[in-house]
Amino acid sequence: MAGQRVRTRFAPSPTGYLHVGGLRTALYNYLFAKRMNGDFIIRIEDTDQSRKVEGAQRNLIRTLEWAGIIPDESPEHGGNFGPYVQSERLSIYAGYCRQLLEDRNAYYCFSTPEELEENRQLQLKQGLQPKYNRKWLPEEMGGSMPSSEIRKKMESGEPYVIRMKVPDYVSVWFEDIIRGPIEFDSSTIDDQVLMKSDGFPTYHFASVIDDHLMEFTHIIRGEEWLSSMPKHLLLYEFFGWEPPKFAHLPLLLNPDRSKLSKRQGDVAVEDYIRKGYSSEAIVNFVALLGWNEGEGSEKEVFSMQELIDRFSLERVGKAGAVFNVDKLNWLEKQYIKERPAEKLVRSIKPILLAELENRQTLLSVETITSDEYLTKVIELMRERVGFEHEFVTFSSYFFFEPESYDEEGLKKRWAAETNDLLREFVPQMESLDVFSAENIEAALKEFVAPKGLKAAALIHPLRLLTSGVSFGPSLYHMLEVLGKETVIRRVLHGIEKITVPV
Ligand code: GLU
Repeated sequence: MAGQRVRTRFAPSPTGYLHVGGLRTALYNYLFAKRMNGDFIIRIEDTDQSRKVEGAQRNLIRTLEWAGIIPDESPEHGGNFGPYVQSERLSIYAGYCRQLLEDRNAYYCFSTPEELEENRQLQLKQGLQPKYNRKWLPEEMGGSMPSSEIRKKMESGEPYVIRMKVPDYVSVWFEDIIRGPIEFDSSTIDDQVLMKSDGFPTYHFASVIDDHLMEFTHIIRGEEWLSSMPKHLLLYEFFGWEPPKFAHLPLLLNPDRSKLSKRQGDVAVEDYIRKGYSSEAIVNFVALLGWNEGEGSEKEVFSMQELIDRFSLERVGKAGAVFNVDKLNWLEKQYIKERPAEKLVRSIKPILLAELENRQTLLSVETITSDEYLTKVIELMRERVGFEHEFVTFSSYFFFEPESYDEEGLKKRWAAETNDLLREFVPQMESLDVFSAENIEAALKEFVAPKGLKAAALIHPLRLLTSGVSFGPSLYHMLEVLGKETVIRRVLHGIEKITVPV
């Protein structure tokens, strides 16, 4: 394998959505391959036809693409093959299975599901780890079934599976890149089914054959596959193939350190996309679930290219990685702060246009959907929003009239003379030639000073009547963006609408 070009793969089963754990596996395979100037390939493992979900394959690939994880060797990306689909390769597996049968490393098994279940219950009762009882292991392979019986069953067309014969008392050993050397005792290994009665291979069989034929150098996958290693290693041995290198990634955990589950939050990448998370934040977040740059590094925000430049399997830990949504939210905020305004305008515009389909506005649609206006809103709000869609939802007053006024704010900020003050201040605003933050601020201060009042006496009421809420960006800048006409209209209308608590 020395000097060989690195090749990795992500091998999802098209059974539904892409799990965040799946995204991490795909990402680590991608990062490792790209770091080593190698190839990253997608293989669809659809040999369990009963679990196959229509459209899942397309969805998986689309979601990976959204994340920027682009496979090599895919027709959509200029390559010739791929994604490889196992259900299109059945004759290949059948050929290798024949070889195992001929070499007496596999055998036909006619045990019915009922028999298997009965056997399982019996072993459980005896306190044994359930294993196939080798009823159909042929005499010539050390079992007790005469070949005439096997032939009879075959001729009568009875359904069968093909099992591998696990050698007795051998130890199977390999060195995991993340976990170090691991040894298994073959006596604990079941005679794994390789071919099912429907003629489809099992995951274990197809995946070993393909990993070899597709010349993968590194298999990077979740910890849950570690227990399958002895079966896989035995298959490599049967065929006389050199196994690739393996890295089993740590489990993903809920904040209470239980295994990450749907019950404690979303696990589908699609759910996060729907909620408005960006691919940069998700990729960054998922990259940190098990990997870190190393001691002394405080850096937490990584672009895809930075990850490619720094990623190594040696820096992936063994311990379970806690899936902490607060961290994801924090990352999302960092990305919004840094994202160029043009890019934000592009994402926000469709959100606003959709909102305008359902909601009337008194503002000029042309103005509020213009790049110039949106850029101003972005610059005022980017430090305050958690998601791109919040530029529209969280600060909807830049686009729509306030529908209500914060009760608490009214209680706290209104004095008996507040409405009169506001009415009196309106002509001052009216008279400003340039309705800029600076001029509004100067006018407000000039207005309150002779009355012996503080600016706050007007700042808070103005914010409330123009936005409906008691918090937000710098008031003067906000008023400038809204424009003179809108501000005055909202103040006068608001005074009429509110009921000031006494
Ligand atoms: N199809 C398996 C899965 O769904 C792939 C396991 C592996 O990477 O070998 O996770």
